[in-house]
Amino acid sequence: MAGAFWCIVEDDRAGRPKKVTAELLGEATRLARQSGGHVEAVWLADKASEDGLKQLGEWGAVRVWLLEDAALAPFRSEVWTPAVAELAGKEAPQAIFGAVTSRQRELLARLAARLGVGLAADSVAFRVEDGKLIATRPVYAGKLLSKITWAKPPWLATLRPNVFKAEEPKAGAVPAVERPSVAIVPSRMTLVERKEEVATGLPELTEADVVVSGGRGLKGPENFVILEELAKVIGAAVGASRAAVDAGWRPHRFQIGQTGRTISPKLYMGFGISGAIQHLAGMRTSKIIVAVNKDPEAPIFKIADYGIVGDLFEVAPLLTQEFKRLLEK
Ligand SMILES: Cc1cc2nc3c(=O)[nH]c(=O)nc-3n(C[C@H](O)[C@H](O)[C@H](O)COP(=O)(O)OP(=O)(O)OC[C@H]3O[C@@H](n4cnc5c(N)ncnc54)[C@H](O)[C@@H]3O)c2cc1C
Repeated sequence: MAGAFWCIVEDDRAGRPKKVTAELLGEATRLARQSGGHVEAVWLADKASEDGLKQLGEWGAVRVWLLEDAALAPFRSEVWTPAVAELAGKEAPQAIFGAVTSRQRELLARLAARLGVGLAADSVAFRVEDGKLIATRPVYAGKLLSKITWAKPPWLATLRPNVFKAEEPKAGAVPAVERPSVAIVPSRMTLVERKEEVATGLPELTEADVVVSGGRGLKGPENFVILEELAKVIGAAVGASRAAVDAGWRPHRFQIGQTGRTISPKLYMGFGISGAIQHLAGMRTSKIIVAVNKDPEAPIFKIADYGIVGDLFEVAPLLTQEFKRLLEK
């Protein structure tokens, strides 16, 4: 199964590839090593940066297919999909990997439909067996793991962030940069209004190593400040349950779960969250789970590594204080 493993670059919209791209390239490198293939990045942007291209080489891409065009930003899947499909038609990669992010989830699903191939969405592991790639992905909100393979290439998959390891960066590795001739068809949609996200100064939810999350137990939007204070001290992102989002306490982009973001941080701390299966679907692969709930029977304690039965309004400020003291030492 020698061939190119393509990784779609997720960037920060300022010309810099994000950490999750290093994870895609890392896993692709391991698979390519086992199968005699090689790793390439595909970067669609209005403006890529030289530093970003260098970074992709150090993360393991031997070639970068660079599609640079003003029409590629902001992301619109109806513009990106035909461009990547055309390139894939010409270059016939063995596999195309994307990340489980809002943009790439949509892109890979559309690409699979357009190329008429299968998609292993939200994959958490891969194995090469008899020249075939086997993907493992959670089903039934994470209750079961299914193993699947593809009937024909290219093998499309989205990879869950924070699950796969980046390779040790290869200092000075320079990728070949190709600027292929591909039709970029401008979107028929017109941008009417653009709202920039207000910078919180906290890490992004899907990229963070530590996530502090709040649910209905917080009782109101004003109380999220308790979690934000804790998050600032330990460098965490703040997430929420759907109950908190539906109540209008947090925007939907902070929702964790089946109909929100999927996260896999090193540490997840849930405050006033009961642990409904749909919430667990978005965070159960976190390495260490801490739950704070006043109800000792709350289902979240079943999957928690550490549980604190208590009132979050007492426990969260105490944790903030204690972390501050420890980290200031
Ligand atoms: C199709 C579908 C999709 C869904 N998708 C999602 C999803 O993506 N994400 C998601 O989160 N949910 C999702 N849900 C909703 C899910 O079923 C639950 O309703 C939701 O997760 C509950 O949120 P919660 O835990 O914040 O609230 P609750 O279930 O009301 O739990 C609140 C918890 O706070 C505790 N508590 C209260 N006061 C305190 C206090 N002072 N100190 C400590 N603990 C306290 C309570 O004991 C309780 O356990 C979905 C549901 C459906 C049907």
